[in-house]
Amino acid sequence: MFEQSLQVAVIGAGMAGLLTARELKREGHRVIVFEKSNRLGGTWLYDPRVETDPLGLDQGREIVHSSMYRSLRVNLPRRLMGFLDYPFSPKEGGDPREFPGHEEVLRYLEDFARDFGLIELIRFGHEVVRVERVNEVSHEWVIESRTRKSESQVEEEVFEAVVVCNGHHTEPIIAEFPGMDIWPGVQVHSHNYRTPESCQNQIVVVVGNGPSAHDILREISSVAKEVHQALRVSDVHFKKLENHNNIWQHSVIKCADEDGKVVFQDGSFVYADVIIHCTGFKYHFPFLRTNGIVSVDDNCVGPLYKHVFPPCLAPWLSFVGLPYKGSPSLIIELQSRWVAKVLSGKVALPSEEEMASSVEELYQHMKESGLPKHHTHQLQQNKFEYENWLVTQLGLPPLEQWREEMYFYALQKITSHDDEFRDTWDVSHRWIEVYKRDGY
Ligand code: FAD
Repeated sequence: MFEQSLQVAVIGAGMAGLLTARELKREGHRVIVFEKSNRLGGTWLYDPRVETDPLGLDQGREIVHSSMYRSLRVNLPRRLMGFLDYPFSPKEGGDPREFPGHEEVLRYLEDFARDFGLIELIRFGHEVVRVERVNEVSHEWVIESRTRKSESQVEEEVFEAVVVCNGHHTEPIIAEFPGMDIWPGVQVHSHNYRTPESCQNQIVVVVGNGPSAHDILREISSVAKEVHQALRVSDVHFKKLENHNNIWQHSVIKCADEDGKVVFQDGSFVYADVIIHCTGFKYHFPFLRTNGIVSVDDNCVGPLYKHVFPPCLAPWLSFVGLPYKGSPSLIIELQSRWVAKVLSGKVALPSEEEMASSVEELYQHMKESGLPKHHTHQLQQNKFEYENWLVTQLGLPPLEQWREEMYFYALQKITSHDDEFRDTWDVSHRWIEVYKRDGY
């Protein structure tokens, strides 16, 4: 049945690592999943701890993996988040809402791992500290890992292929501005935001406009004196947000002073107590040693063919889960299937030269469109094109139309400051007809 069965290492037991492990197992590969934490679930494993450096700039800090805040509810309907053959359906004793809290996603991943026999494949408490080819001509990889109990005791093993699934929500991006270092208030990255209490009666600036910024903004507005959102959108002017009596919008922060003043690009200013940076994350692979073959440049991991395979190391090294923005679970699932089938020899990759020129074409296209390199993995409008491309590689039927319709509808809700969209989402809406039509 199997064309080729390999010894494969997967780094991380979050959503990407679990899906990858399942697909590799299905294809008959021998899989070991290295997971530094003692539980699976990655980012969905809520951790009340925060890091010692709340901005996350100190490279020596102990990293807390998850960025979940206590109140987080998913921002996409559960029907979109579920895997193709393992629906994210409400279960007895769980959170039945269409947009459940984070605990429900963790439960779903735990059930998934149990039902597909993945738990026995995971080496918990094993942090991968080095991934390197055995030598420059070999396709084999050395994985060096260490356990929490003994930092100095490392284990080395050799694998025929490695799939990197370490997530990308631990190294914060900060929106720097002049005066940042002398400004006397509290600054924190959303990675280290858990609950709103510390903003009680404070004047808070929230930087960013993504889903986390919207959630955090809304949550702290219920306890803070004033909340000011700084946005990098070209046509934003200082204004109070409709339907909110203590939220204002501004353009980006221009500078800050030691007297607490925060000045925005549009000329408006506030004397603030707290700045929360909801400004995203950098890709980070501290364990990866490829002699510069794969690197992170302007937050683009490359060169990677279709965000997954480095052309000259394919298929022996791959990355699952890099694209962000826009319902990552389906992308992760399709990528993991692709990797598993490529490794078993059932799906072929183009030649190294063809893959390399495809990557170059993508960079060139982005340059001509005026897009910076850090937009490379930011799939949003072109997410369905990419997913359908993966589907074609896998010989699967085209994706159902409702996915696209529902996704763009949800996206519009997320960005519209509609605070109630999770609860007012109409489950008896025509979507239901669409699900039924597609046999969900
Ligand atoms: P992770 O979940 O981060 O898992 C990576 C795993 O790798 C972790 O378990 C980590 O411990 C392990 N690891 C890392 N380094 C090492 C190492 N060196 N050695 C061993 N193990 C290692 N998606 C949605 O679809 N809907 C949402 O509503 C949604 N909300 C989100 C809200 C927030 C605040 C964040 C941060 C993300 C959200 N996402 C959402 C996206 C989410 O990241 C993905 O759904 C998905 O969980 C990503 O899975 P992953 O496996 O790639 O990464």
